[in-house]
Amino acid sequence: MLSVKCLYRAVHTYKMIPMDNLIHHPMETSLSPTANRETPRDRMVQALSQAIHEHHLAPGTKLGEDELSDVFSVSRTVVRSALQSLAHENLVELKRNRGAFVARPTIREAREVFEARALLEPRTARSAAERMTPEGLAILEAHIEAEHKALAAGEAGKALRLSGQFHIEISRLADQTIIANFIEQLIARSSLVIALYWQRQSALCDKHAHHALMEAFRAADGKEAEALMTSHLVDIVSALDLRERPHGDTNLKDILSRIGGTG
Ligand SMILES: [Zn+2]
Ligand SMILES: [Zn+2]
Repeated sequence: MLSVKCLYRAVHTYKMIPMDNLIHHPMETSLSPTANRETPRDRMVQALSQAIHEHHLAPGTKLGEDELSDVFSVSRTVVRSALQSLAHENLVELKRNRGAFVARPTIREAREVFEARALLEPRTARSAAERMTPEGLAILEAHIEAEHKALAAGEAGKALRLSGQFHIEISRLADQTIIANFIEQLIARSSLVIALYWQRQSALCDKHAHHALMEAFRAADGKEAEALMTSHLVDIVSALDLRERPHGDTNLKDILSRIGGTG
């Protein structure tokens, strides 16, 4: 049983998950030693996913096939396949006869995403705390440290992505594979929701909610972890401005070359 668990952790820590099943999180490039065996399509999915998570590509941005095939130097077949896999993760919307766009969650979806997180995450935080190991604590601490570094460097988008990754790791440490996969998709959608509706200036390690959670994890206090996660999610929702507002048009090529997304 222990060895299965260790294998599970190893697989999740080093991300050898089939691309078709799970979004390829950009985190891998910084923390994983195995990020290099990738196809051009994988790299494209990863670059676009990162650009979306880090808010370089705003919700609603048109993702033209020609432009993408230029920027990434791949065929349109590869572009289409990459867009399909991003659509599968709800990061991209494919519209008939109009092409692909960065997904733009509605206010209703925004509420639903956080309602779903409020149902799932307090429980996973509780089980993570109850089965916490020194190895698990080290993974979570590394995430917080990376987030602080990103904040100190003024990389707010990166910090936001790391902040979401912290939640995903908690669900993995809770050893609930199916729920962890749900949460991973919800976090991906949250990033878009936050890109659209966040109204606080100082995002992220705001109030350092993750530090309080770490205390509960160190103490293996499941009840406390559950309560803290509940209030953390309430706090995030309170920072969202759920009123419609317009968005500007952007030049895809410029943005992608600026962030070096051409891999
Ligand atoms: Zn958080
Ligand atoms: Zn902090």
